[in-house]
Amino acid sequence: MSSINYQNIINKLGNIKIIIDSEQVKKLSQDYYYFSPILLNKLADKKADLIVQPSNEEEVLKVAQICVNHKIPLTVRGAGTGNYGQCIPLHGGIVLDMTEMRQIHWIKNGSACVQAGVKMATVERATRKEGWELRMIPSTYKIATIGGFFGGGSGGIGSINYGQLRDRGNLHRVKVVTLEDEPRILELKGDETNQINHAYGTNGIITELEIPLAPAYNWLDVIVTFPHFMNAAQFAQHLADSDGIIKRLISVHASPIPEYFIALKNYLSKGESCALLTVSENSINSLSELVKEYQGKITYQEDLEKKNSLNLIEFTWNHTTFHARNIDPNITYLQTFFFTLEKVEQMYKTFGDEVMIHLEFMRLGGKAIPAGLQLVRYTNEERLNEIIQYHEQNGAFIANPHTYILEDGGRKHIEPEQLKFKKMVDPYGLMNQGKMKAWTENS
Ligand SMILES: Cc1cc2nc3c(=O)[nH]c(=O)nc-3n(C[C@H](O)[C@H](O)[C@H](O)COP(=O)(O)OP(=O)(O)OC[C@H]3O[C@@H](n4cnc5c(N)ncnc54)[C@H](O)[C@@H]3O)c2cc1C
Repeated sequence: MSSINYQNIINKLGNIKIIIDSEQVKKLSQDYYYFSPILLNKLADKKADLIVQPSNEEEVLKVAQICVNHKIPLTVRGAGTGNYGQCIPLHGGIVLDMTEMRQIHWIKNGSACVQAGVKMATVERATRKEGWELRMIPSTYKIATIGGFFGGGSGGIGSINYGQLRDRGNLHRVKVVTLEDEPRILELKGDETNQINHAYGTNGIITELEIPLAPAYNWLDVIVTFPHFMNAAQFAQHLADSDGIIKRLISVHASPIPEYFIALKNYLSKGESCALLTVSENSINSLSELVKEYQGKITYQEDLEKKNSLNLIEFTWNHTTFHARNIDPNITYLQTFFFTLEKVEQMYKTFGDEVMIHLEFMRLGGKAIPAGLQLVRYTNEERLNEIIQYHEQNGAFIANPHTYILEDGGRKHIEPEQLKFKKMVDPYGLMNQGKMKAWTENS
Protein backbone atom coordinates (compact mmCIF):
# COMPACT_ATOMS: atom_id res chain seq x y z
CA MET A 1 0.00 0.00 0.00
CA SER A 2 1.47 3.36 -1.05
CA SER A 3 2.16 5.86 1.76
CA ILE A 4 1.97 8.82 -0.64
CA ASN A 5 -0.87 11.25 0.00
CA TYR A 6 -2.09 11.92 -3.55
CA GLN A 7 -4.51 14.66 -2.49
CA ASN A 8 -1.47 16.54 -1.24
CA ILE A 9 0.30 15.88 -4.58
CA ILE A 10 -2.73 17.10 -6.56
CA ASN A 11 -2.71 20.31 -4.52
CA LYS A 12 0.98 20.80 -5.26
CA LEU A 13 0.44 20.28 -9.00
CA GLY A 14 -1.77 23.38 -9.01
CA ASN A 15 -3.06 24.16 -12.51
CA ILE A 16 -1.35 21.29 -14.28
CA LYS A 17 -3.93 19.00 -15.94
CA ILE A 18 -4.59 15.74 -14.12
CA ILE A 19 -6.88 12.72 -14.50
CA ILE A 20 -8.17 10.88 -11.46
CA ASP A 21 -11.22 9.06 -12.83
CA SER A 22 -10.44 5.42 -12.08
CA GLU A 23 -11.43 4.01 -15.51
CA GLN A 24 -9.51 6.64 -17.41
CA VAL A 25 -6.49 6.16 -15.16
CA LYS A 26 -6.62 2.42 -15.90
CA LYS A 27 -6.91 3.06 -19.65
CA LEU A 28 -3.98 5.47 -19.63
CA SER A 29 -1.90 2.98 -17.64
CA GLN A 30 -1.97 0.40 -20.42
CA ASP A 31 -0.60 -0.25 -23.89
CA TYR A 32 -0.78 -3.12 -26.39
CA TYR A 33 0.97 -5.59 -24.04
CA TYR A 34 -1.89 -8.05 -24.52
CA PHE A 35 -0.53 -9.07 -27.95
CA SER A 36 1.64 -11.29 -25.72
CA PRO A 37 -0.16 -13.96 -23.67
CA ILE A 38 2.85 -13.99 -21.33
CA LEU A 39 2.64 -10.24 -20.62
CA LEU A 40 -1.14 -10.36 -20.39
CA ASN A 41 -0.82 -12.53 -17.28
CA LYS A 42 1.82 -10.29 -15.74
CA LEU A 43 0.51 -6.80 -16.42
CA ALA A 44 -3.29 -6.84 -16.55
CA ASP A 45 -3.72 -5.45 -13.01
CA LYS A 46 -1.08 -2.69 -13.15
CA LYS A 47 -2.31 0.87 -12.74
CA ALA A 48 -1.04 4.37 -11.97
CA ASP A 49 -2.32 6.41 -9.02
CA LEU A 50 -2.59 9.58 -11.06
CA ILE A 51 -2.29 10.75 -14.68
CA VAL A 52 -0.61 14.12 -15.22
CA GLN A 53 -0.69 15.95 -18.56
CA PRO A 54 1.87 18.77 -18.76
CA SER A 55 1.52 21.41 -21.49
CA ASN A 56 5.05 22.82 -21.43
CA GLU A 57 8.59 22.28 -20.12
CA GLU A 58 8.00 24.33 -16.96
CA GLU A 59 5.18 21.99 -16.01
CA VAL A 60 7.33 18.93 -16.73
CA LEU A 61 10.04 20.37 -14.45
CA LYS A 62 7.47 20.97 -11.72
CA VAL A 63 6.14 17.39 -11.94
CA ALA A 64 9.72 16.07 -11.87
CA GLN A 65 10.48 18.10 -8.75
CA ILE A 66 7.36 16.82 -6.98
CA CYS A 67 8.20 13.20 -7.90
CA VAL A 68 11.75 13.61 -6.55
CA ASN A 69 10.60 15.32 -3.34
CA HIS A 70 8.04 12.61 -2.60
CA LYS A 71 9.87 9.67 -4.24
CA ILE A 72 6.93 8.97 -6.54
CA PRO A 73 7.45 6.46 -9.39
CA LEU A 74 7.08 8.22 -12.75
CA THR A 75 6.25 6.53 -16.04
CA VAL A 76 6.23 8.60 -19.23
CA ARG A 77 3.59 7.90 -21.83
CA GLY A 78 3.09 9.00 -25.43
CA ALA A 79 0.05 7.47 -27.11
CA GLY A 80 0.42 4.11 -25.34
CA THR A 81 0.75 2.09 -28.55
CA GLY A 82 3.88 0.29 -27.31
CA ASN A 83 3.80 -3.48 -27.31
CA TYR A 84 5.74 -4.71 -24.33
CA GLY A 85 4.07 -2.97 -21.43
CA GLN A 86 6.69 -0.28 -21.99
CA CYS A 87 4.59 2.50 -20.49
CA ILE A 88 2.70 0.40 -17.93
CA PRO A 89 3.64 1.44 -14.37
CA LEU A 90 4.68 -1.65 -12.41
CA HIS A 91 4.57 0.19 -9.07
CA GLY A 92 1.81 2.77 -9.44
CA GLY A 93 2.75 6.43 -9.09
CA ILE A 94 2.35 9.07 -11.78
CA VAL A 95 1.90 8.39 -15.48
CA LEU A 96 3.10 11.48 -17.33
CA ASP A 97 1.00 11.75 -20.49
CA MET A 98 2.96 13.90 -22.98
CA THR A 99 0.26 14.35 -25.63
CA GLU A 100 -0.46 17.97 -24.68
CA MET A 101 3.08 18.90 -25.73
CA ARG A 102 2.54 18.81 -29.48
CA GLN A 103 4.11 21.89 -31.02
CA ILE A 104 6.13 21.83 -34.21
CA HIS A 105 8.81 24.47 -33.59
CA TRP A 106 10.39 24.57 -37.05
CA ILE A 107 11.04 22.70 -40.29
CA LYS A 108 14.07 23.73 -42.33
CA ASN A 109 16.94 22.34 -44.40
CA GLY A 110 15.77 18.74 -44.11
CA SER A 111 15.36 18.80 -40.32
CA ALA A 112 12.47 19.42 -37.95
CA CYS A 113 12.30 20.42 -34.30
CA VAL A 114 9.20 19.20 -32.48
CA GLN A 115 7.80 18.64 -29.02
CA ALA A 116 7.78 15.03 -27.82
CA GLY A 117 4.01 14.55 -27.65
CA VAL A 118 3.17 15.44 -31.26
CA LYS A 119 1.67 12.70 -33.40
CA MET A 120 3.87 11.53 -36.24
CA ALA A 121 1.06 11.91 -38.78
CA THR A 122 0.81 15.59 -37.79
CA VAL A 123 4.55 16.12 -38.26
CA GLU A 124 4.50 14.34 -41.60
CA ARG A 125 1.59 16.45 -42.85
CA ALA A 126 3.54 19.60 -41.99
CA THR A 127 6.87 18.47 -43.44
CA ARG A 128 5.31 17.26 -46.71
CA LYS A 129 4.17 20.83 -47.36
CA GLU A 130 7.88 21.75 -47.40
CA GLY A 131 8.88 18.78 -49.60
CA TRP A 132 10.08 16.55 -46.75
CA GLU A 133 8.79 13.57 -44.82
CA LEU A 134 9.82 11.56 -41.75
CA ARG A 135 12.67 9.13 -42.38
CA MET A 136 10.70 6.36 -40.75
CA ILE A 137 7.33 5.91 -39.12
CA PRO A 138 5.70 3.02 -37.27
CA SER A 139 2.47 1.59 -38.67
CA THR A 140 0.78 3.36 -35.72
CA TYR A 141 1.96 6.75 -37.05
CA LYS A 142 -1.57 8.20 -37.06
CA ILE A 143 -1.70 8.20 -33.25
CA ALA A 144 1.80 7.41 -31.94
CA THR A 145 3.95 10.28 -30.68
CA ILE A 146 7.44 11.07 -31.86
CA GLY A 147 8.79 10.90 -28.26
CA GLY A 148 7.18 7.48 -27.79
CA PHE A 149 8.64 6.25 -31.08
CA PHE A 150 12.19 7.17 -30.06
CA GLY A 151 11.54 6.02 -26.48
CA GLY A 152 10.09 2.63 -27.32
CA GLY A 153 9.99 1.92 -31.06
CA SER A 154 12.63 0.47 -33.33
CA GLY A 155 11.88 1.31 -36.96
CA GLY A 156 9.16 0.95 -39.53
CA ILE A 157 8.04 2.31 -42.86
CA GLY A 158 11.20 3.93 -44.25
CA SER A 159 13.60 1.50 -42.50
CA ILE A 160 14.29 -0.01 -45.93
CA ASN A 161 16.17 3.25 -46.66
CA TYR A 162 17.32 4.56 -43.27
CA GLY A 163 17.77 1.50 -41.04
CA GLN A 164 16.63 1.67 -37.43
CA LEU A 165 15.98 4.55 -35.04
CA ARG A 166 19.18 3.90 -33.13
CA ASP A 167 21.38 4.05 -36.24
CA ARG A 168 23.76 6.98 -36.11
CA GLY A 169 22.31 10.08 -37.76
CA ASN A 170 18.63 9.27 -37.24
CA LEU A 171 18.30 11.61 -34.24
CA HIS A 172 20.16 14.92 -34.06
CA ARG A 173 19.32 16.41 -30.69
CA VAL A 174 16.96 16.02 -27.75
CA LYS A 175 16.00 17.95 -24.67
CA VAL A 176 15.54 15.81 -21.57
CA VAL A 177 14.21 16.69 -18.11
CA THR A 178 16.06 14.93 -15.27
CA LEU A 179 14.81 13.64 -11.93
CA GLU A 180 17.75 14.92 -9.89
CA ASP A 181 17.32 16.70 -6.55
CA GLU A 182 16.93 19.82 -8.62
CA PRO A 183 15.52 18.71 -11.98
CA ARG A 184 17.05 20.43 -15.02
CA ILE A 185 16.87 20.32 -18.77
CA LEU A 186 19.76 18.63 -20.57
CA GLU A 187 20.52 18.85 -24.27
CA LEU A 188 21.93 15.71 -25.86
CA LYS A 189 23.43 15.79 -29.34
CA GLY A 190 24.50 13.11 -31.84
CA ASP A 191 25.73 9.92 -30.16
CA GLU A 192 24.74 11.28 -26.74
CA THR A 193 21.10 10.71 -27.75
CA ASN A 194 21.73 6.94 -27.45
CA GLN A 195 21.16 7.35 -23.71
CA ILE A 196 17.46 7.96 -24.29
CA ASN A 197 16.90 6.30 -27.67
CA HIS A 198 14.89 3.08 -27.03
CA ALA A 199 15.41 3.40 -23.26
CA TYR A 200 11.70 2.95 -22.45
CA GLY A 201 11.61 6.31 -20.67
CA THR A 202 13.99 5.13 -17.93
CA ASN A 203 16.56 7.86 -18.59
CA GLY A 204 14.79 11.19 -18.46
CA ILE A 205 11.69 12.83 -19.88
CA ILE A 206 12.16 13.77 -23.53
CA THR A 207 10.48 17.12 -24.15
CA GLU A 208 11.85 18.11 -27.57
CA LEU A 209 13.54 16.39 -30.50
CA GLU A 210 15.43 17.59 -33.56
CA ILE A 211 15.11 14.98 -36.27
CA PRO A 212 16.50 14.61 -39.79
CA LEU A 213 13.95 14.29 -42.59
CA ALA A 214 13.84 12.53 -45.95
CA PRO A 215 12.86 13.94 -49.35
CA ALA A 216 9.11 13.42 -49.88
CA TYR A 217 7.88 11.40 -52.86
CA ASN A 218 4.49 10.75 -54.37
CA TRP A 219 3.92 7.27 -53.03
CA LEU A 220 1.83 4.49 -54.51
CA ASP A 221 0.45 1.60 -52.48
CA VAL A 222 0.87 -1.65 -54.41
CA ILE A 223 -0.31 -5.21 -53.71
CA VAL A 224 1.46 -8.05 -55.52
CA THR A 225 0.29 -11.66 -55.16
CA PHE A 226 2.36 -14.82 -55.65
CA PRO A 227 1.35 -18.50 -55.83
CA HIS A 228 4.49 -19.45 -53.85
CA PHE A 229 5.81 -17.78 -50.70
CA MET A 230 9.51 -18.14 -51.54
CA ASN A 231 8.89 -16.39 -54.88
CA ALA A 232 7.39 -13.49 -52.94
CA ALA A 233 10.37 -13.44 -50.55
CA GLN A 234 12.93 -13.57 -53.41
CA PHE A 235 11.10 -10.83 -55.28
CA ALA A 236 11.11 -8.69 -52.13
CA GLN A 237 14.85 -9.18 -51.58
CA HIS A 238 15.52 -8.25 -55.22
CA LEU A 239 13.35 -5.15 -54.86
CA ALA A 240 15.13 -4.24 -51.62
CA ASP A 241 18.48 -4.55 -53.44
CA SER A 242 17.31 -2.54 -56.50
CA ASP A 243 18.78 0.86 -55.73
CA GLY A 244 17.09 2.49 -58.75
CA ILE A 245 13.58 1.73 -57.53
CA ILE A 246 12.45 4.20 -54.88
CA LYS A 247 10.49 2.50 -52.11
CA ARG A 248 9.40 3.10 -48.54
CA LEU A 249 7.91 -0.26 -47.57
CA ILE A 250 8.44 -3.92 -48.52
CA SER A 251 6.23 -6.21 -46.46
CA VAL A 252 5.74 -9.90 -47.33
CA HIS A 253 3.07 -12.25 -46.00
CA ALA A 254 3.05 -16.02 -46.42
CA SER A 255 -0.29 -17.70 -46.98
CA PRO A 256 -2.56 -17.92 -44.96
CA ILE A 257 -1.76 -14.46 -43.44
CA PRO A 258 -3.47 -12.54 -46.31
CA GLU A 259 -6.75 -14.18 -45.23
CA TYR A 260 -6.63 -12.00 -42.11
CA PHE A 261 -6.65 -8.83 -44.23
CA ILE A 262 -10.43 -8.62 -44.59
CA ALA A 263 -10.44 -5.07 -46.04
CA LEU A 264 -8.02 -6.17 -48.79
CA LYS A 265 -9.88 -9.34 -49.75
CA ASN A 266 -10.83 -8.13 -53.24
CA TYR A 267 -7.15 -8.00 -54.13
CA LEU A 268 -5.97 -11.27 -52.57
CA SER A 269 -6.61 -14.94 -53.40
CA LYS A 270 -6.92 -17.84 -50.99
CA GLY A 271 -3.75 -19.92 -50.82
CA GLU A 272 -1.55 -17.16 -52.23
CA SER A 273 1.14 -15.10 -50.54
CA CYS A 274 1.47 -11.37 -51.04
CA ALA A 275 3.79 -8.37 -50.91
CA LEU A 276 2.43 -5.02 -49.67
CA LEU A 277 4.58 -2.21 -51.04
CA THR A 278 4.94 1.53 -51.06
CA VAL A 279 6.92 2.70 -54.10
CA SER A 280 7.36 6.07 -55.72
CA GLU A 281 4.99 6.88 -58.54
CA ASN A 282 7.85 7.16 -61.02
CA SER A 283 9.18 3.68 -60.10
CA ILE A 284 6.00 1.81 -60.99
CA ASN A 285 7.11 0.68 -64.49
CA SER A 286 10.39 -0.71 -63.19
CA LEU A 287 8.51 -2.42 -60.39
CA SER A 288 6.11 -4.05 -62.90
CA GLU A 289 9.07 -5.50 -64.80
CA LEU A 290 10.51 -6.96 -61.60
CA VAL A 291 7.12 -8.41 -60.63
CA LYS A 292 6.98 -10.29 -63.98
CA GLU A 293 10.41 -11.85 -63.36
CA TYR A 294 9.02 -13.52 -60.24
CA GLN A 295 5.63 -14.59 -61.68
CA GLY A 296 3.81 -12.15 -59.42
CA LYS A 297 0.61 -10.25 -60.22
CA ILE A 298 -0.12 -6.62 -59.33
CA THR A 299 -3.71 -6.63 -58.06
CA TYR A 300 -3.89 -3.12 -56.58
CA GLN A 301 -2.11 0.16 -57.12
CA GLU A 302 -3.28 3.48 -55.74
CA ASP A 303 -1.97 6.91 -54.80
CA LEU A 304 -1.45 6.92 -51.03
CA GLU A 305 -2.81 10.45 -50.78
CA LYS A 306 -6.16 9.54 -52.44
CA LYS A 307 -9.09 9.90 -50.10
CA ASN A 308 -10.29 6.29 -50.18
CA SER A 309 -6.84 4.73 -50.35
CA LEU A 310 -6.59 1.41 -48.47
CA ASN A 311 -3.48 2.70 -46.68
CA LEU A 312 -1.49 -0.53 -46.83
CA ILE A 313 0.82 0.76 -44.10
CA GLU A 314 -1.88 -0.19 -41.62
CA PHE A 315 -1.59 -3.86 -42.62
CA THR A 316 2.16 -4.06 -42.12
CA TRP A 317 4.67 -4.17 -39.25
CA ASN A 318 2.73 -4.95 -36.09
CA HIS A 319 -0.60 -4.05 -37.66
CA THR A 320 -0.40 -7.49 -39.29
CA THR A 321 -0.56 -9.03 -35.80
CA PHE A 322 -3.40 -6.68 -34.93
CA HIS A 323 -5.54 -7.85 -37.90
CA ALA A 324 -4.75 -11.52 -37.31
CA ARG A 325 -5.67 -11.24 -33.62
CA ASN A 326 -8.98 -9.62 -34.55
CA ILE A 327 -9.89 -12.94 -36.15
CA ASP A 328 -7.99 -15.34 -33.92
CA PRO A 329 -7.06 -13.89 -30.49
CA ASN A 330 -4.81 -16.91 -29.81
CA ILE A 331 -2.30 -15.57 -32.28
CA THR A 332 0.81 -13.90 -30.93
CA TYR A 333 4.06 -12.93 -32.63
CA LEU A 334 7.85 -12.89 -32.72
CA GLN A 335 10.38 -10.29 -33.86
CA THR A 336 13.27 -11.83 -35.76
CA PHE A 337 16.38 -10.82 -37.65
CA PHE A 338 16.71 -13.57 -40.25
CA PHE A 339 19.56 -11.84 -42.09
CA THR A 340 19.21 -14.17 -45.14
CA LEU A 341 16.45 -15.78 -47.19
CA GLU A 342 18.00 -19.21 -46.54
CA LYS A 343 17.21 -18.73 -42.86
CA VAL A 344 13.68 -17.61 -43.73
CA GLU A 345 13.14 -20.75 -45.84
CA GLN A 346 14.51 -22.99 -43.12
CA MET A 347 12.03 -21.63 -40.55
CA TYR A 348 9.19 -21.65 -43.10
CA LYS A 349 9.76 -25.36 -43.70
CA THR A 350 10.37 -26.22 -40.03
CA PHE A 351 7.30 -24.60 -38.49
CA GLY A 352 4.77 -24.46 -41.34
CA ASP A 353 1.49 -22.85 -40.26
CA GLU A 354 2.40 -22.76 -36.57
CA VAL A 355 4.75 -19.81 -37.25
CA MET A 356 3.36 -17.94 -40.26
CA ILE A 357 6.05 -15.88 -41.94
CA HIS A 358 5.62 -12.11 -42.12
CA LEU A 359 8.71 -10.26 -43.36
CA GLU A 360 9.62 -6.59 -43.26
CA PHE A 361 12.72 -5.63 -45.23
CA MET A 362 15.08 -3.07 -43.71
CA ARG A 363 18.63 -1.82 -44.05
CA LEU A 364 21.05 -3.16 -41.48
CA GLY A 365 24.73 -2.21 -41.64
CA GLY A 366 24.33 -1.06 -45.25
CA LYS A 367 22.59 -4.24 -46.47
CA ALA A 368 18.91 -4.90 -47.09
CA ILE A 369 17.81 -7.83 -44.93
CA PRO A 370 14.56 -9.64 -44.16
CA ALA A 371 13.34 -9.15 -40.61
CA GLY A 372 10.35 -11.08 -39.34
CA LEU A 373 7.25 -10.32 -37.34
CA GLN A 374 5.98 -13.87 -37.64
CA LEU A 375 2.53 -14.82 -36.40
CA VAL A 376 2.58 -17.67 -33.92
CA ARG A 377 -0.37 -19.95 -33.16
CA TYR A 378 0.09 -19.90 -29.41
CA THR A 379 -0.36 -23.08 -27.41
CA ASN A 380 1.68 -22.55 -24.24
CA GLU A 381 4.72 -20.71 -22.88
CA GLU A 382 6.96 -23.77 -23.05
CA ARG A 383 6.29 -24.25 -26.76
CA LEU A 384 6.79 -20.53 -27.44
CA ASN A 385 10.19 -20.70 -25.74
CA GLU A 386 11.09 -23.82 -27.74
CA ILE A 387 10.32 -21.94 -30.96
CA ILE A 388 12.43 -18.96 -29.82
CA GLN A 389 15.30 -21.26 -28.85
CA TYR A 390 15.23 -23.09 -32.18
CA HIS A 391 15.51 -19.78 -34.03
CA GLU A 392 18.40 -18.57 -31.88
CA GLN A 393 20.28 -21.86 -32.06
CA ASN A 394 19.99 -21.71 -35.82
CA GLY A 395 21.32 -18.19 -36.32
CA ALA A 396 18.08 -16.16 -36.38
CA PHE A 397 18.16 -13.41 -33.73
CA ILE A 398 14.96 -12.92 -31.73
CA ALA A 399 14.11 -9.55 -30.15
CA ASN A 400 11.73 -11.09 -27.63
CA PRO A 401 8.41 -9.21 -27.49
CA HIS A 402 7.23 -11.27 -24.51
CA THR A 403 9.19 -9.38 -21.85
CA TYR A 404 8.90 -5.86 -20.45
CA ILE A 405 12.56 -5.82 -19.36
CA LEU A 406 14.58 -3.52 -21.63
CA GLU A 407 17.66 -5.71 -21.86
CA ASP A 408 15.75 -9.00 -22.30
CA GLY A 409 13.99 -7.71 -25.44
CA GLY A 410 16.13 -6.64 -28.38
CA ARG A 411 19.32 -5.51 -26.64
CA LYS A 412 20.35 -8.71 -24.82
CA HIS A 413 23.06 -6.90 -22.90
CA ILE A 414 23.35 -4.21 -20.28
CA GLU A 415 24.78 -0.95 -21.61
CA PRO A 416 27.20 0.50 -19.02
CA GLU A 417 26.95 3.97 -20.56
CA GLN A 418 23.17 3.97 -20.24
CA LEU A 419 23.39 2.84 -16.62
CA LYS A 420 25.95 5.57 -15.88
CA PHE A 421 23.65 8.14 -17.44
CA LYS A 422 20.69 6.85 -15.42
CA LYS A 423 22.65 7.20 -12.19
CA MET A 424 23.06 10.87 -13.04
CA VAL A 425 19.59 11.78 -14.36
CA ASP A 426 17.47 9.50 -12.18
CA PRO A 427 19.49 8.87 -9.00
CA TYR A 428 16.45 7.63 -7.07
CA GLY A 429 15.42 5.19 -9.79
CA LEU A 430 11.94 6.64 -10.10
CA MET A 431 11.55 6.39 -13.87
CA ASN A 432 9.64 3.41 -15.28
CA GLN A 433 10.63 1.30 -12.30
CA GLY A 434 11.41 -2.36 -12.88
CA LYS A 435 12.05 -2.07 -16.62
CA MET A 436 15.85 -1.57 -16.70
CA LYS A 437 17.64 -4.70 -15.50
CA ALA A 438 20.98 -2.89 -15.24
CA TRP A 439 19.49 -0.57 -12.62
CA THR A 440 17.61 -3.29 -10.69
CA GLU A 441 20.75 -5.45 -10.48
CA ASN A 442 23.13 -2.61 -9.62
CA SER A 443 21.19 -0.58 -7.05
C1 LIG B 1 -0.59 -2.32 -34.13
C2 LIG B 1 0.80 -1.84 -33.75
C3 LIG B 1 1.73 -1.58 -34.74
C4 LIG B 1 3.03 -1.14 -34.41
N1 LIG B 1 3.96 -0.90 -35.39
C5 LIG B 1 5.21 -0.48 -35.06
C6 LIG B 1 6.19 -0.22 -36.05
O1 LIG B 1 5.93 -0.26 -37.26
N2 LIG B 1 7.45 0.14 -35.65
C7 LIG B 1 7.76 0.28 -34.32
O2 LIG B 1 8.90 0.61 -33.99
N3 LIG B 1 6.83 0.08 -33.37
C8 LIG B 1 5.58 -0.30 -33.70
N4 LIG B 1 4.64 -0.48 -32.72
C9 LIG B 1 4.95 -0.08 -31.35
C10 LIG B 1 4.55 1.41 -31.09
O3 LIG B 1 3.39 1.74 -31.79
C11 LIG B 1 5.60 2.39 -31.54
O4 LIG B 1 6.83 2.09 -30.96
C12 LIG B 1 5.18 3.83 -31.23
O5 LIG B 1 6.02 4.70 -31.88
C13 LIG B 1 5.15 4.17 -29.76
O6 LIG B 1 4.71 5.51 -29.63
P1 LIG B 1 3.76 5.94 -28.46
O7 LIG B 1 3.59 7.40 -28.51
O8 LIG B 1 2.51 5.14 -28.48
O9 LIG B 1 4.67 5.53 -27.22
P2 LIG B 1 4.28 4.84 -25.85
O10 LIG B 1 3.76 3.46 -26.08
O11 LIG B 1 3.39 5.73 -25.07
O12 LIG B 1 5.69 4.78 -25.14
C14 LIG B 1 6.70 3.93 -25.61
C15 LIG B 1 7.89 3.99 -24.65
O13 LIG B 1 8.51 5.26 -24.75
C16 LIG B 1 8.51 5.93 -23.50
N5 LIG B 1 8.20 7.35 -23.77
C17 LIG B 1 7.10 7.87 -24.35
N6 LIG B 1 7.20 9.20 -24.45
C18 LIG B 1 8.37 9.53 -23.87
C19 LIG B 1 9.03 10.77 -23.62
N7 LIG B 1 8.50 11.93 -24.01
N8 LIG B 1 10.21 10.74 -22.95
C20 LIG B 1 10.78 9.58 -22.56
N9 LIG B 1 10.21 8.38 -22.78
C21 LIG B 1 9.02 8.36 -23.43
C22 LIG B 1 7.45 5.26 -22.66
O14 LIG B 1 7.75 5.33 -21.27
C23 LIG B 1 7.51 3.84 -23.17
O15 LIG B 1 8.52 3.13 -22.52
C24 LIG B 1 3.36 -0.94 -33.04
C25 LIG B 1 2.40 -1.19 -32.06
C26 LIG B 1 1.14 -1.62 -32.40
C27 LIG B 1 0.13 -1.87 -31.31
